[in-house]
Order: sequence, then C-alpha cells, then structure tokens
Amino acid sequence: MDLTSLENKQQPYYRSVAHEVLVFEHAYRNQLPLMLKGPTGCGKSRFVEAMANRMNLPLVQVACHDETSANDLIGRHLLKGGETVWQDGPVTRAVRDGAILYLDEIAEAREDVVVVLHPLTDHRRELYIDRLNETLRAPKSFMLVVSFNPGYQKGMKEMKPSTRQRFVGLEFSYPEGEIEVEVIQNETGIDKGTAKKLVNLANKVRTLDELGLTETASTRLLVDTAYLIKSGLPPRLACDVGIVQPLTDDSETIASLRDLSALIF
Ligand code: ADP
Repeated sequence: MDLTSLENKQQPYYRSVAHEVLVFEHAYRNQLPLMLKGPTGCGKSRFVEAMANRMNLPLVQVACHDETSANDLIGRHLLKGGETVWQDGPVTRAVRDGAILYLDEIAEAREDVVVVLHPLTDHRRELYIDRLNETLRAPKSFMLVVSFNPGYQKGMKEMKPSTRQRFVGLEFSYPEGEIEVEVIQNETGIDKGTAKKLVNLANKVRTLDELGLTETASTRLLVDTAYLIKSGLPPRLACDVGIVQPLTDDSETIASLRDLSALIF
C-alpha cells in the first residue's frame, strides 16, 4: 500500500490565503496564545485542524455557547455506580495531553470561562482545578487558540480588551475570488464554471448591505451548495436551499436573493 497517499488523504485540506501559517508557527514557537477573528464559515476551524495535523499534535475542539461554563471545560465529579469519580473536561484534557486547544466562539462563553483561562494565556501557562485543588502546568506542546466573530450585529458579544491583549490576533475573511473557487472545487469536485458562478453570487450578496443580513454568504454555504449541485440538484434550487433559505426568513430579501441567483444560474 502506498502510505504517502494514505497520509495525504487523511490530511485536512486547507488552502492558505495569506501569512496565517507563518504566524501560527511563530506563535507556537514562542508559546503565545492565538486569536482568530472572522465571520462564520470562512475557514478558521479548518485552518486549526490543518495546523494540528501538520504539527502532528492532538487537537481538542470546543464550540462555546452562552451556557458554556468553567466547569464544562475543566471537569466535574460524576456519580458512577454509587461512587463519585472525577471526569476531565476538554480544557483539562488538552492541557494534560499537550494538545492544541481550540475554543470556537469564545466570546459566547460565560464570564467564568475567561477567568479560568487567564493563567493559561500568560507566562504561567497553568490551569487551576479548584475542585481538585490541583494546578496543572501546560507542557511545551500545549497551545491555546480561540476564535470569535467580531461582526455580530445581534447579541453584541465581544471579548474584553484585557482578555484580547493576551492573544496574538489573526484576521480571517472569505478567501479572495480565485482562491475561493479553488477551495470549492477541491472540497466538492465541482467543475470550475459552477464554482465561479457560486463565488460570483456570494460576492454580490456580500456587497449588498441593503439586504440587511446578519450573516452573509460564507464559504461553507458555497461548499454545501456545490455538493448539492454536484449530486444533481438543479442549480437554482440548490442555491435556494443552500444559500437563500439559510441566510434569511424575510420574504422580500428571499425574493431579491432568488433574483440574484437566477441572474447567474
Ligand atoms: P469557521 O471555523 O470559520 O466557521 P470552517 O473552517 O468550518 O469555518 O470552514 C467552513 C468550510 O469552508 C470548510 O469546511 C471548508 O470546506 C471551507 N473552507 C473555507 N476556507 C477554506 C480554506 N482556506 N481551505 C480549505 N477549505 C476552506
């Protein structure tokens, strides 16, 4: 069996768009935590997966939401067969294993999460587990990566300036024209012409502020729509269910988006 091609197959596909790989490597080398800023579906998670793979490190990923608490991340005592046993949460596991820890949408998490992370983000690189009265020192290979979406219009959840200053910051946005076409083709195997049309449609949607969308057409939506077209769904229908409907419920906006897609497909 050809092991090289097997290895390649298992590698997550990531198309580098700027200097993000270099910045990641330098942050890692200097044991600095990294913050990825950018809209949803623009490749942040894929980038972290690819970097963990490239550096041959385990990856622990957590999608934070407004109920995510410090205990969820650190761990808790559970009752098992009449006995209490301690179960590590994902952050504790990542620190013990010297993994790359990716906390997606960190700004969504509850305030106590940030308090617990602070000693991990500075020179101490420590995690204090108060329930066990234990302090873990992160091994050299451990790295903390967080993401947040600065563009949220609703909710307005932001990272505190004092927390942000603990991170090296990398800005992400949707890949530029040709690169996004390449990403869609590589991910889905769709033909170049269709990939180009999808990017064209997305770029129109992205520039039309008057549509009043909270979130705009992401690379993820284009990839999903390309899959639908590739499997034989008529393109206009695929755009409707893959792009228009996920973006809005407003009937006028739906009509405008459908017009746009009918112009292109
Ligand atoms: P985010 O974490 O920013 O919400 P993801 O990393 O999940 O977004 O990206 C969504 C999808 O977009 C991925 O599954 C992948 O198909 C595609 N994608 C976006 N950018 C890239 C890229 N630069 N290289 C490869 N795939 C990408």
